[in-house]
Parts: sequence; structure tokens; C-alpha cells
Amino acid sequence: MRVSQLFGKTLRDTPADVEIASHRLMLRAGLIHQVAAGVYAYMPLAYRALRKIEQIIREEMDSAGGQEVNMPALHPFELWQESGRDVSLGGILFHVNDRRDRDMILAPTHEEVITQMVKANVSSYRDLPINLYQIQTKFRDEPRPRAGLIRGREFTMKDAYSFDIDQEGLDLSYDKMKDAYRNIFRRCGLPAIAVEADSGAIGGKDSQEFILPTQAGEDTVLFCSGCDYAANAERAAFSLSRGPQEEELPLEKVATPGVKTITSVALLLGVSENNTLKAVFYWANDKVVCVVIRGDLDVNETKLSNLLHAPDLRLATNEEVLQAGIIAGTASPVGMEGVGIIADFSIQSGHNFVVGANEEGYHYISANYPRDFTADTITDIALAKAGYNCPQCGTPLESTRGIEVGHIFKVGTFYSERLGAFCLDDQGKKRPIIMGCYGIGVGRLLAAAIEQNHDERGITFPIPIAPYQVYLLSLNSRDVQVRKQADDLYQSLKKAGLEPLYDDREESAGVKFNDSDLLGLPIRVVVSSRTLEACAVEVKERQKDKGDRVPMDEAVETIQGLLQ
Ligand code: ATP
Ligand code: MG
Repeated sequence: MRVSQLFGKTLRDTPADVEIASHRLMLRAGLIHQVAAGVYAYMPLAYRALRKIEQIIREEMDSAGGQEVNMPALHPFELWQESGRDVSLGGILFHVNDRRDRDMILAPTHEEVITQMVKANVSSYRDLPINLYQIQTKFRDEPRPRAGLIRGREFTMKDAYSFDIDQEGLDLSYDKMKDAYRNIFRRCGLPAIAVEADSGAIGGKDSQEFILPTQAGEDTVLFCSGCDYAANAERAAFSLSRGPQEEELPLEKVATPGVKTITSVALLLGVSENNTLKAVFYWANDKVVCVVIRGDLDVNETKLSNLLHAPDLRLATNEEVLQAGIIAGTASPVGMEGVGIIADFSIQSGHNFVVGANEEGYHYISANYPRDFTADTITDIALAKAGYNCPQCGTPLESTRGIEVGHIFKVGTFYSERLGAFCLDDQGKKRPIIMGCYGIGVGRLLAAAIEQNHDERGITFPIPIAPYQVYLLSLNSRDVQVRKQADDLYQSLKKAGLEPLYDDREESAGVKFNDSDLLGLPIRVVVSSRTLEACAVEVKERQKDKGDRVPMDEAVETIQGLLQ
């Protein structure tokens, strides 16, 4: 391709309102064009890069036994009512009405449709296992579209679905996908790490996300350098250090006038915050729920919302708490009535805690579970943080931010049971088909790759996903000799099966070098009157500061070598 004919132009200036490097670079390099919030067109260069990523994905999916299909984006709303996701994903669904006023949605994902397809085509265990995938456009009315292709409202996803007769089959399918994902990210030049992830309200068994560590990411990952533990903060666990065994003292009420927070009560009574318990109130499924947790810890709202099957969980308002007959600020599980109590395991990590007394201006000291209060459920609902101990080996956890580029998930029988996808096993018994789901954000992957691979001058594309491999650039292109040599080299590169982008414009050297750096193709080749005097060209890899003079007749071979 000749730059003089290439559609799209580079921008000198940084576009306004752009938070992260990949978004800025994609706009400046003319890779994407914004149509609406979270809605982008792929320009020719981005589309080439995307097709390369898709090709890598296809090769790995196919060699893992996947079969490519293509499903519609337009779904009848009733299908989503059958699975119940009209409610759980309700907020992000785009609705459209057809001419008969039937409610249809633009699909955010395809579990329902694929389960329906499998139901219609599979009747016996002999038809299984199957792995079906597609690379297709998704629609999600995201509350906060951001960062260009990273969080769009219309975006390209590779979604795959495995179907097995039993759990062992699913485990095998899942492991195959995990390997395929590792290969895909490695081939795209991305050091993505697999971390334990939240499996949501559906509550499948295993769920892992592939996260690309970068400060610009929205996800927080906790990982252990002492062992292989790594988990998304939404899901991460930690081990609590237990206090020493202490004698339980009698429950005692003390005056704490004006004291409302854990920090101030701990200060007043001369105890540390991990010697207090706090009650936090949430609004879930149309009622107030009380959560009790050690004073120094925070509630993990994802764990809580999964536990309560309450996707719309939020903190209760003061009025809601008051209406439930509770005095916030000094609320306590001791003596609380009429409100469900969920406690974190941390209430068992010590003795003689300070808690509220459900009475303005008073707290209890020496509250002990279960002597002084009970809970409807005791479970892990605490938020893990850097510095807390690894649940596997005890080493303090570290944290990093990252972008989720892929997600694999053992879903189980959630959809097959709801949509009636059963099949006969080898005993002739009817069983719900067991499902796994596997997604990769294709556009997000491209943006993440740029986030990971850039410097102050521009993008530094990994070779396998660069839109073109070589930026061939002629200086003083009005010079007939230079022009001829550059034209010839362009033809030879193409003939050798390489992918050159030929900057044949009559622009200044500065403009051409800047554009070459901004676009970040792996290799730059310069033909100028100076290189011609030496019967050579200059070949430079994008990341290097200096190039090498290479004899003209060895240029193609040298470039081929660098690309391998
Ligand atoms: P997130 O937590 O980032 O919202 P998700 O968990 O909802 O993502 P999945 O339903 O697991 O996403 O989708 C599979 C993959 O699709 C994700 O791993 C991500 O790479 C990509 N993806 C999800 N939402 C978007 C989006 N709005 N724009 C671009 N890519 C997305
Ligand atoms: Mg996910």
C-alpha cells in the first residue's frame, strides 16, 4: 500500500478528552474513527491489524477443535426472558422494536442462542463434545464507555461455547481453551496472565480472566510472588491472621458520646481497628441487609451480591436504615432484630470485640460470637487488598492494575436447564448438557496491545499483529533515482511476500519519520540520495535508536531475517 493513497490521516495534536495512551495513539495514527460514545469505525490500518488478530484466534480455535459459526445480533427478547437474563443483564441490553412492535434485543453475548442451536441439533452423548465459536459484533449499553476500543458499546468479540455430557468432559474442554488462549496471547505479543475470576450470580465452578497488566486497566489483580496465586480483586481471598486465644470477658456497655466511626471508637477506647466489628447496611432484593465484618476490613460487594443473588445491590440510604428501626453509626449485630445478618469469617478471627450498642452514644466492649450475637450466614465477603496474606501460602499479596482481554468460564447447566437442552447419556438417561463459555475482546485486544507496546514517539506494534510489516520511506522523492530505487524495493518486498507500507509522499523528512514512528510498524527502511550513493538502504527496527546500512541487493533478505 502506498501512503499517498491510504485512506486516513495522522494527527499532530493529541485529541482532547482522551485518558489513555492506546486511545490517543489510535486516534492520532488514524486507526479508528469515532461515530458515537463507545461506537467506532475501524479505519484500513486498524482493520488489517484486527484481521491478523482474528486469524491468530481462528488458527488456535480451530486447532483446539473449535468449529466456526456465525450467529445473528438480533434476538427475540422472549429468549432472554427464558434464561432470566432479561433481568440480570437488563441494564446493558439495547432494545429494538420490529414493525409489529415485537421487542427484540441487540445481543451482548450468545449463550441463549447457541444453547437453542445445540438443543435443536444434539440428542445423544455421541454428538458431544462440541466446541462452537464465532467472531462477531456485540452490543452492550455500557454505563461508562471509555478508552476507545477498550470499552465500547458496539465491539467485536470472539465467543466460544463448549458442550459436554459430564463434568470431566467440561474440564477437558476448559483446559483446551485455556491452552488456546495462552497461545493466542503469546502470538499477539501480549504477556497476559490468567487470574481467578468472579463467576457472577450464575455461580459456575471455575472462571479465569486473562489480564494484561498495565496501569491504564480498570481491573485490579492481586497476586502472590511466593506461589502461583492470582485473582481478580472481585474474587480474591486472603488468609486472616488469628489473634491469640483469649478468655471471653463479660459483655459490657460503655459510653462513647458523639463517636460514629470505627477509627474514632478505636481511638477513644484504645483498641486497634481489628479489635472492632462494624455493621454495614445494604439494600438488596427490596430490603435492608446487615453485613457484619471486622472493623479494619471492607466488604467485597461482588461477593455479597453473588451470595444474595442481588445484581442491583447497593448501600442502603439513611432513611432505609432508619425505617428498618436501626440507628446507623452505633448499629450492631448484638440485639438486632428484624434484619437479616450476614457475617464475614473475620468475626471469628478474634475475641472481645468492640461493637455498637444499637443505642445513640454507646458501644459494647467484649462482644463475642456466637455468645452475644448470631448471623444467618457466615462466609467470605471481605475485600482482599495488597499486603494481606496469600490464601495459599501466606506471603503478603501484591496488586497490579490490568485490562481483561479474555475470560473463560465453566458455566455448567444454567442455560441448558432453563432452555431445555438435554441429551441422553450412555445409560439412556436424560441429562442437561454441560456448558463452558470463552470470550476474547478482539478490539480490546488490539487496544491493549498498543497500551502495552508504545513509547513516547508512538506505537511499537508486535510483528504478528502489525497492519504492515515494513514502513518503506523515500527521502527527496522528487529525485528520479531515489524514486526508482524506492519503487523497485517496494515491488521486491511485495514479491517476497512481505507487507510494505510505502511512504511515497512528497512530504518533508520530519513528517515522514514522525508518521513512521507514530504508526510503529516493526521495520523502517529509508531510501535517500545519501543511501543510494553507497548502493544501500537504511534498515531500522522500530524500538532501536539507530539503523544499519544494508546493501541494496541484500535488503529483502535482511528484512525477512528481522521479521522471523
Ligand atoms: P468487563 O468486566 O470488562 O465489563 P465482561 O466480564 O463483561 O467485561 P465478558 O462478558 O466476559 O466481559 O466478555 C468477554 C470479553 O469481551 C472480555 O474479556 C473483554 O475482553 C471483552 N469485552 C467485554 N466488554 C467489552 C466492551 N464493552 N468493549 C470491548 N470489549 C469488551
Ligand atoms: Mg468477564
